[in-house]
Amino acid sequence: MDRFKDKTVVVTGAGRGIGHAVAESFAAEGAKVAVLSRNEQSCGQAAALINERFPGSAKPYAVDVADFGAMQECGKSIVGEFGSINILVNNAGITRDGLLLRMSDKDWDAVIDTNLKGAFNVLKAFQRSLMKAEDPRIINVSSVIGLIGNAGQANYAASKAGLIGFTKSVAREFAPRRVTCNAIAPGFIRTDMTDALGENIQEDIIKMIPLREMGSPEEIASLALYLASPEARYITGQVIAIDGGMTM
Ligand code: NAP
Repeated sequence: MDRFKDKTVVVTGAGRGIGHAVAESFAAEGAKVAVLSRNEQSCGQAAALINERFPGSAKPYAVDVADFGAMQECGKSIVGEFGSINILVNNAGITRDGLLLRMSDKDWDAVIDTNLKGAFNVLKAFQRSLMKAEDPRIINVSSVIGLIGNAGQANYAASKAGLIGFTKSVAREFAPRRVTCNAIAPGFIRTDMTDALGENIQEDIIKMIPLREMGSPEEIASLALYLASPEARYITGQVIAIDGGMTM
């Protein structure tokens, strides 16, 4: 299928995990994809893997989304090369977990700067291009932790809850320009981020999930593609949880 032929997509945090799956799924449907990640090696590898399966579809860009100036420069070169941007997926994110008693201001700032300010920085880089594009869509990857909180993740929960407020405000502001903006709130998805939790914690997490298993990056990608599709034209300002029933 070529559902996204002639569409251009920017995916941040696409070096691995969910972002890689999102970028590859758009490429599989005919889109041209800018694959962004922090380090050159990871976005280069991800783009090469995508191009092996869908030749000429992906281009890598190494940039720190938390750096406003660097992100604007990167945005200029992407728009210069791609012409215009139809779909933006703000997916880059990190964790620096710890109980508040031990959490440093550095860990707080790093998570807010990447997960929340990063989404602002990236949107600023593409806002004008999106407003001029056909069927423009913004998809922000939040988390169920932004909805329900979690001990040891105050910084992460605040960043992901902030992203939800950001999503709704952008949706209202950009609606007159026909740009939709929605958030996906994944539960626990098998990636490097959850692998880092260790087996015991993963087993405890699985007990809390009604469907008794973690989700896959491809399942998040399917939802992103739906939100970017013509069928989702009338959906904006929503937060859609995809979490095996955790937040029902
Ligand atoms: P992951 O496997 O750890 O990958 C994170 C990606 O983000 C990497 O490509 C990384 O770049 C990139 N990144 C991190 N900081 C960046 C920065 N400052 N600038 C640019 N790129 C940066 O993560 P994931 O599990 O796929 O998660 C993706 C998103 O989903 C995150 O926002 C996460 O919070 C959210 N989420 C994940 C889960 C889950 O269970 N996995 C659940 C809920 C929400 P490098 O490759 O260069 O390091």
